[in-house]
Amino acid sequence: MANPVVAIVGRPNVGKSTLFNRIAGERISIVEDTPGVTRDRIYTHAEWLGKEFNMIDTGGIELSDQPLITQIRQQAEIAIDEADVIVLVVDVQSGITDADEQVAQILYRSKKPVVLAVNKVDNPERRADIYDFYSLGLGEPYPVSSVHGIGLGDMLDAVIEHFPDDGQNQDEDTVRFSFIGRPNVGKSSLVNAILGQQRVIVSDVAGTTRDAINTHFESQGHKFTMVDTAGIKKKGKLYENTERYALMRSMKAIDDSDVVLVVLNADEGIRDLDRHIAGYAHEAGKGVIIVVNKWDLLPGRDQRTMTDFTNLIRHEFQYLSYAPIIFVSAKTKQRLAQLPPLILKVYSHAKRRVKSSTLNDVIMDAIAANPTPSTNGRRLRVFYATQVAVAPPTFVIFVNDPDLMHFSYARYLENQIRQAFDFSGTPIHLIKRQRN
Ligand code: GDP
Ligand code: GDP
Repeated sequence: MANPVVAIVGRPNVGKSTLFNRIAGERISIVEDTPGVTRDRIYTHAEWLGKEFNMIDTGGIELSDQPLITQIRQQAEIAIDEADVIVLVVDVQSGITDADEQVAQILYRSKKPVVLAVNKVDNPERRADIYDFYSLGLGEPYPVSSVHGIGLGDMLDAVIEHFPDDGQNQDEDTVRFSFIGRPNVGKSSLVNAILGQQRVIVSDVAGTTRDAINTHFESQGHKFTMVDTAGIKKKGKLYENTERYALMRSMKAIDDSDVVLVVLNADEGIRDLDRHIAGYAHEAGKGVIIVVNKWDLLPGRDQRTMTDFTNLIRHEFQYLSYAPIIFVSAKTKQRLAQLPPLILKVYSHAKRRVKSSTLNDVIMDAIAANPTPSTNGRRLRVFYATQVAVAPPTFVIFVNDPDLMHFSYARYLENQIRQAFDFSGTPIHLIKRQRN
């Protein structure tokens, strides 16, 4: 189920990223911090009154080499393309500027729902100054103080009021997947090549709210939904090939998918942006397949080359050790037919439930083979384990003291679980919990 998307726009220094972080809040992560994954906040998950949504800070999508006003305009365009609701942030201290007026006009013409947040209203006296902002023509200005967390509730109420109705015809037994990766690795070519091989049932008409197209097809009796294919290319848009935009789009596609296919270019090796995108795919807890495309370009590609490339990937993406790797060519169609069954397999692993009795047998055998560690004379005791969720499979392990279960022992238990049950392609989460 795709969450509604909220984009935050506004000129620099009005407080967009402060607001973004405030709304995102401190999300408690049940997974360890992943080494090699940079946390930068341009896209995040958030919730208000039980409504979940995703949020983009367009200010974080730097569109370098452009004059400021062009950048702001492009950020507004991205928000219009990507979001269901746009929050325009302005600054009560500086009042209305030319840039504010220009952005307001672009947003107004887009007919997208816009909520106007007047930021830095840190005290009640300042509230009198917000009425000037009616002249932007975007309706009621909502006074907020992102630093102090004041006024956010009313503003968010207005935001969620504009959310599209949920409960659209979301098909539960279809596997949603997407190709993600940096520009030019061959995502669009893969999309077209796959669709060329499949019996396409229907393509959604480009939506009025988001110009993303989901394509549905059937393969071997199973339903697939390819997420956001046409949206990959926004022909002629200046921002399309910027790295930050590619990253934001990838994050969005990850969120909408059950299984993500991280596409690498065999001809170019692994770049920083590849690492960045793969890191997000892992953190999101979705099924992951690594697709090495343009395999036709490697001269003398043989088993040796494949082994070398596999080793490189395993070394660069250590946290993705569970992800299968497949070498393909969108051009020659080599191995493309293997993708749908592989996607299906990964999906079934992500949804796998194991019986508590079997799980506990595995855990107890693991402990017998490699006894629990002691710290300062206190031994870790493991009482019981149970699976509490799927996608990703999540296990709670009850112990005498969670601090006694170090990362390495948790990793050992995870490996034992993986050996006993096939979870290839999906991350699994272990949560340690104290039982008295
Ligand atoms: P952005 O460029 O729009 O993302 O703006 P930032 O979030 O980086 O904020 C710019 C500056 O405004 C920073 O120094 C913030 O601390 C400050 N700021 C943000 N929100 C508020 C607020 O509600 N009140 C006050 N007084 N300052 C704020
Ligand atoms: P995207 O930006 O990731 O969507 O990449 P495109 O699908 O637009 O592909 C970028 C370029 O790589 C285009 O010129 C494609 O023709 C080319 N390309 C894509 N896949 C392959 C492939 O498997 N082999 C070769 N030789 N070229 C490819």
